[in-house]
Amino acid sequence: MCHSFLTDANFYRLLLQIDESLAEEVRARGCDCGGRLHSARYPRKPRGIRSALDASYASRLSFCCAQDGCRRRHTPASVRFLGRKVYLSVIVVLITALQHGLTERRRRRLIEELDVPPQTLWRWRHWWREQFVQSRCWRALAGQLIPPLATDHLPGSLLERLRARILSERLVELLVLLSPVTTATGSLGVGPDPQTM
Ligand SMILES: [Zn+2]
Repeated sequence: MCHSFLTDANFYRLLLQIDESLAEEVRARGCDCGGRLHSARYPRKPRGIRSALDASYASRLSFCCAQDGCRRRHTPASVRFLGRKVYLSVIVVLITALQHGLTERRRRRLIEELDVPPQTLWRWRHWWREQFVQSRCWRALAGQLIPPLATDHLPGSLLERLRARILSERLVELLVLLSPVTTATGSLGVGPDPQTM
């Protein structure tokens, strides 16, 4: 693998820890109705990288209100899963970011190694250009970027703007910034709920 962190179990453990702390905030807040939240995870089958993932990657953290008559679903933001896309967020972000920056050869190799079909790549590009740029998450983020960032090279242009020296650290930083888009409120106005995307 040309990016060694992609096969490093510690990298995925770090992402899991971030997801767990995002989830803990949601759980501690409870439901608007005053009800307690119970765990109700979504099953996931991430494609591309298996060996470095533990069992925690077979589900996305989510909760359901325990109150009868409410039972509202509360799904915390995630740095691991971008909606129901079958590839992990880090793969979607990395491959689409490499398109505008690092070498094309490396990108090709990664696509081959992960066996990502061309239609999937097309859908990802389309998502960044058409849907992500309309999301609340992006609008909030864009407002803080000085100088403003051109949207046609997302997410690569955003990745380049981040400070961390090592690519894997910059990716984690980027995934945290993007995580609101994985919630219903952060993605609002972009069509389908990310849970059914
Ligand atoms: Zn409730």
